[in-house]
Amino acid sequence: MNLLVESTRDIREFLRGDEETLVVTHHSPDGDAIGSLTAFGGMLDQLCVPNVIAVDDTPPMKYSFLPGFDRIVNLKAHPVGKMYPRVVVLDAGALERIGQAKSAIGPGTRILNIDHHFTGEAYGHINLVEVAAAATSEILYEICAAWGLEITPQIAYGLYVGILTDTGRFRFANTTARSVEICSKLIALGVDTSFVTERVYFNMSVDAVRALAKALTSLEFYFDSRVALIGLGGANHSSETEGFVEHACSIDGVVLAGFYSEMEPGLFKVSLRSRGRVDVNQIAAGFGGGGHKKAAGYRFRGDLADLKNSLMQAFKVGLDADLQGNSTSETAGILPWGRSTMVEN
Ligand code: 5GP
Ligand code: MN
Repeated sequence: MNLLVESTRDIREFLRGDEETLVVTHHSPDGDAIGSLTAFGGMLDQLCVPNVIAVDDTPPMKYSFLPGFDRIVNLKAHPVGKMYPRVVVLDAGALERIGQAKSAIGPGTRILNIDHHFTGEAYGHINLVEVAAAATSEILYEICAAWGLEITPQIAYGLYVGILTDTGRFRFANTTARSVEICSKLIALGVDTSFVTERVYFNMSVDAVRALAKALTSLEFYFDSRVALIGLGGANHSSETEGFVEHACSIDGVVLAGFYSEMEPGLFKVSLRSRGRVDVNQIAAGFGGGGHKKAAGYRFRGDLADLKNSLMQAFKVGLDADLQGNSTSETAGILPWGRSTMVEN
């Protein structure tokens, strides 16, 4: 990814002066959201810009090892309370996704949006949206490189976690040579990769394991087992459900998978994954959400039966189009050396 010199210059200009700056990311924060938040806080510290890093949610404890994690303000517990002259929004395809952090934005607030989601919404005064980047953290690395910032441990660990998690440990189709190259540089700088993987993926809380067990027992199949759905309805919600959907998506023959979790009565968080050619970003967008072709999500108000019905209708449209060759995404993967193959992932 070649960041336009202009963009980084505009961002540097945006950050000039010592006005206090609020840095926020999306609710239900994942590794890229938290990692880019702590890393950007470290970048601003180096530029001597006073900053508050915040999210409208409880930051998942599995990222608590990140330097700077303790500085993250949980806006659910500590509402913003004032307007900021500058707000930086990281990893959020739509401004709605920052939740009540929006109340920090007044008529005089300038917004900087740094993201990698495909979205038509350029809600910032400055928008650096690089859809080719596997993670927002990847974009932040390029900014550090362009400005010659020192990659401190806080920055290095944040960026590494962001890229590691958004590429599904370098497994998803968004992984590029550059993603791996950046991680290689971060490891060379001192990131303990084994420690990070251990903490993020192999250190589940007991509650999270029990929630996963419940979710797995809810497993349902649709459309000749090409679609798998798992979820946590009723009072079974857990805030540590990142990655649960991958279990439904890892089943032989499944090309579309969903996971739902009832955050409060009648309000569900829904995660979608595609292993084939159906574009789940389009499906999520139909419900007011978004994401990427192979990983997307939305929030749903209603009861569980409505959620399932509407989701299966949308999946059916995608599957039918795919069978007729009018896939909503690319029709086949062509390997660079010319061999045509049905890439399923
Ligand atoms: P996950 O299912 O892991 O929460 O999210 C998968 C992808 O979809 C991520 O890129 C995430 O940012 C995006 N996503 C998840 N939920 C929503 C949502 O409610 N709205 C939008 N716009 N994007 C979402
Ligand atoms: Mn991301």
